[in-house]
Amino acid sequence: MSVEFDQKIHDTLANASLQLAIYTATGRLKEKRIEVTAENVLPDYQELRTQANALKKHTIDNLDHYLEEFERNVEAYGGKVVYCKDATEVSDFVLDLAKRRGSKLIVKSKSMTTEEVDLNERLEHHGLESVETDLGEYILQLAHEKPYHIVAPALHKTRYDVADLFTKALHVARETVPEKLTLIARGVLREKFLKADIGISGANFLIADSGAVVLVENEGNARLTTSAPKIHVAVAGIEKVIPRARDLAVFLKLLARSATGQLLSVYTSFLAGPRRVGEVDGPEEFYVVLLDNGRTRLLPDRSKRESLYCIRCGACLNTCPVYRKIGGHSFPWVYSGPIGAIITPQFMGISHEPALPFASSLCGACGEVCPVKIDIPKVLLELRGDVKKMEAREGQNRMEKLAFRVFAWVMTHPRIYEMAGRLAASVAPAGDGKWIGSLPAPMSVGPMKAWLSERDLPPSPSKSFREMWRNR
Ligand code: SF4
Repeated sequence: MSVEFDQKIHDTLANASLQLAIYTATGRLKEKRIEVTAENVLPDYQELRTQANALKKHTIDNLDHYLEEFERNVEAYGGKVVYCKDATEVSDFVLDLAKRRGSKLIVKSKSMTTEEVDLNERLEHHGLESVETDLGEYILQLAHEKPYHIVAPALHKTRYDVADLFTKALHVARETVPEKLTLIARGVLREKFLKADIGISGANFLIADSGAVVLVENEGNARLTTSAPKIHVAVAGIEKVIPRARDLAVFLKLLARSATGQLLSVYTSFLAGPRRVGEVDGPEEFYVVLLDNGRTRLLPDRSKRESLYCIRCGACLNTCPVYRKIGGHSFPWVYSGPIGAIITPQFMGISHEPALPFASSLCGACGEVCPVKIDIPKVLLELRGDVKKMEAREGQNRMEKLAFRVFAWVMTHPRIYEMAGRLAASVAPAGDGKWIGSLPAPMSVGPMKAWLSERDLPPSPSKSFREMWRNR
């Protein structure tokens, strides 16, 4: 485990108010999800999950086909598809577009994919102003922080934190009433919408048979982002494609329920191409940036590539006992919780944070709530295997390897095994309840010491099982 990962976990565990904020917010989302997916409310919930899994499996198994179909249909409606390999290619495309159109101000709606490629930071580095318009994302942009949760990015901030932040960053009188804080943000952001040259959004789904980008949101800011500026750029991972518009019926029933416990989100927008003749609003130019950024690395692995089925609902975070203790910022990349633990090592490489697949109790709760039935515990176990193989390749854990070799040798030589047993019995302690607890550091420090103070080895028997068997 890296020092940074370890430190952040300890800091989060030691912060009582943060612990309460995480536990309360995730608990609320979790309870609401349970209510709206209950059998008496949504009797076909399990069937929908099975269908969603089958649809995603089919799409990922035929990804090239559906991406080409999506591209053809986007272009048929007057839009353009741009394939980007990584973060640099995304920012280069937007920078070049802004330069050609003389754009200076960009508004953005919530998008984990743009967080993934640090798009704001890259654009601002080149002198562009890029403003987040989702309230939670806007709060985080002012605070210079990354999202804490993939659905509720500012989940860790109280209204008092936001009040302090707005007072300092926006030079306004301190308000602590949530509605008033929202109005302050709205006042600033309306101006930005009216002046922006480019609107950048993410995409919840890309529909192959109609070339449409589907956006699911509650605040209406994504609608303004994609319709007020003259140019709309949607940035999406290649796995967001689904075959047909009618498949949305399955995913829309699951997404809002799993994410926020709503039956449906407030706005669902279907965007296909730029404004047509006779239409009163919409952009003049429409681009869809399809991002790889490590995703195609998963495709050859038929088992682990189910990680690409994710619809970013966040349900696995809300139910995960580990996320609910260590929070979102302990994780080494923008994706946190169980989904972060499986996609970060696969997108970024297993060496990015080898401890990540081990940051799980393997209780299975994440897999049980996942609306697309990703078997997250299975993928975690496979990734643990990959970490061990990597460590073996890199010659790490030499002592562990040596210990296992000695162990294997003893276990495959019965006489040696018996001698070792006799030797162990002769040096084993009497089992008076004190031996383990008196072990030297590091075994006898911190939580380990507390745990060991309650336990001890039983007294060793005078005869081994083998001896008793021989003499029976
Ligand atoms: S892995 Fe499943 S539960 Fe977790 S965010 Fe993705 S779709 Fe939701």
